[in-house]
Amino acid sequence: MAAMEKSSAPSEAIKDAKTVLIVEDNDLNMKLFHDLLEVHGYRVIEARNGAEAIARARSDAPDLILMDIQLPEISGLKATQEIQADPLIKETPIVAVTAYATRGDEERILAGGCRDYIAKPISVADFLEKVKRYLD
Ligand code: MN
Repeated sequence: MAAMEKSSAPSEAIKDAKTVLIVEDNDLNMKLFHDLLEVHGYRVIEARNGAEAIARARSDAPDLILMDIQLPEISGLKATQEIQADPLIKETPIVAVTAYATRGDEERILAGGCRDYIAKPISVADFLEKVKRYLD
């Protein structure tokens, strides 16, 4: 499936676009993040759980991963560890997107390998600013 997407002839703008992998199990959040990024010129791929996140990170080598922490089965932090244990993709920046962002959670997320975090519900400006920061 990923190979088919890559071989379909994209427009110049899409071809040069940075790819963001959104990992999110909530449909409304997924749609919001996807639409926001797409409208700002990013190429978007989606994963609904941790296992899919790891698989898409490997198959598509995205430029940035937005990682929901609260996921069914494998948590976002566990998926982050798995991605960072893979030498081919371990440098991919991962930004946590989480509803739980107390000081303790923030430390746990950063200690867990995420470069940064975005609090849910998101502020659109903050969301876009952080995405841009890790893609420039
Ligand atoms: Mn979630």
